[in-house]
Amino acid sequence: MREYSTQMEAARKGIVTKEMEAVAKKEYRDTEFIRALVAEGKIAIPANKNHKCIDPEGVGSMLRTKINVNLGVSRDCKDYDIEMEKVMAAVNMGAEAIMDLSSHGNTQPFRKKLTESCPAMIGTVPVYDSVIHYQRDLAELTAKDFIDVVRLHAEDGVDFVTLHCGITRKTIEQIKKHKRKMNIVSRGGSLVFAWMCMTGQENPFYEYYDEILEICREYDVTISLGDACRPGCLADASDVCQIEELVRLGELTKRAWEKDVQVMVEGPGHMPMDQIEANMKIQNTICMGAPFYVLGPLVTDIAPGYDHITSAIGGAIAAASGAAFLCYVTPAEHLALPNVDDVKQGIIASKIAAHAADIAKKIPHAMDRDNAMGDARRVLDWDKQWECALDPETAKKIRDDRSPEYDDTCSMCGKFCAVRSMNKALNGEYIDILG
Ligand code: SF4
Repeated sequence: MREYSTQMEAARKGIVTKEMEAVAKKEYRDTEFIRALVAEGKIAIPANKNHKCIDPEGVGSMLRTKINVNLGVSRDCKDYDIEMEKVMAAVNMGAEAIMDLSSHGNTQPFRKKLTESCPAMIGTVPVYDSVIHYQRDLAELTAKDFIDVVRLHAEDGVDFVTLHCGITRKTIEQIKKHKRKMNIVSRGGSLVFAWMCMTGQENPFYEYYDEILEICREYDVTISLGDACRPGCLADASDVCQIEELVRLGELTKRAWEKDVQVMVEGPGHMPMDQIEANMKIQNTICMGAPFYVLGPLVTDIAPGYDHITSAIGGAIAAASGAAFLCYVTPAEHLALPNVDDVKQGIIASKIAAHAADIAKKIPHAMDRDNAMGDARRVLDWDKQWECALDPETAKKIRDDRSPEYDDTCSMCGKFCAVRSMNKALNGEYIDILG
């Protein structure tokens, strides 16, 4: 029998859990460092007590930056087996979290399969599932229906839930008054907004927040406070709607911590590069250091087909400035449900952003692999280079497709290879270029 409900409660009671020990080992930190920051809320360890096969991860700006991969079926792409293949491929490529955003069919078996067999943190957005679960249109759902779906996901073993608690009826007036270019682009946020408009009632995730906290406390579900008003284009970045919601998310973070419920706070969105660092600092202050989970930020709006790159640029700046968790973006963003190759491209781009930030933040051992790559390149050891590569398959394929005449170089420079010339020169050897 556990002497605590949540990781945060354990930490506050001075208990080091096996999840904290696992995180400490992975992060090259001592357990007391992890425990103290979990107690303060600056590290979240999303680990539902019903997700028995989880390999726990810590989320916090002083730890390795984690990445999330969104998957799940939609009405147009509804093959659960293909989705499960993508899940396992994503985990093998280093995704620490999978969000199941399924919006079609019977979603519970897939969700349960995830929490029974996937070691990554599992997240969901219960408001999406509400319409599907009850098979009733949005306006026909009651506040209680939404809360019951949160409970269902908690029982099913989901580690974190995105809940759009931060918009209220006041937000309706603000959105109308401030005339944003892209209004609300958060799928869950738009559903909550639409429900409020159609029923005339307050946001149920805000109004019944205390009830939600009881559920999350019971199962140790981390609340990911959704940013319904995240900017959907550069022009809307850092506007009144975004910042006003962030202030409310800060208040809700405090209320969750009072009940020992772990929290992450979601953030932008689309944002010019020069605003990213300031946004990270403002969030850190308003939300008292709660881990920041950013969706991008995409640093330009004009690259559909390449938004894994626009978001990796923003993600790297965000993580280096304090964000703890990056949501991947694929080349299919704004265009279609990502296929297997899109998922791979999105994960690699996010991993690069996260890793680059970890090096800048001097996360322990973050640069070990880069140092090993430097050594392997200096001695032209290609096998070692594949071992160090984030995507060895692609790297090897490129070399093999354009193989060099001389094995100790590559087809870029051939015998003009600077590395080869330097090695020979420093060894006092003759350097043949023409022969
Ligand atoms: S041939 Fe040129 S690109 Fe290739 S390893 Fe040598 S220096 Fe690098």
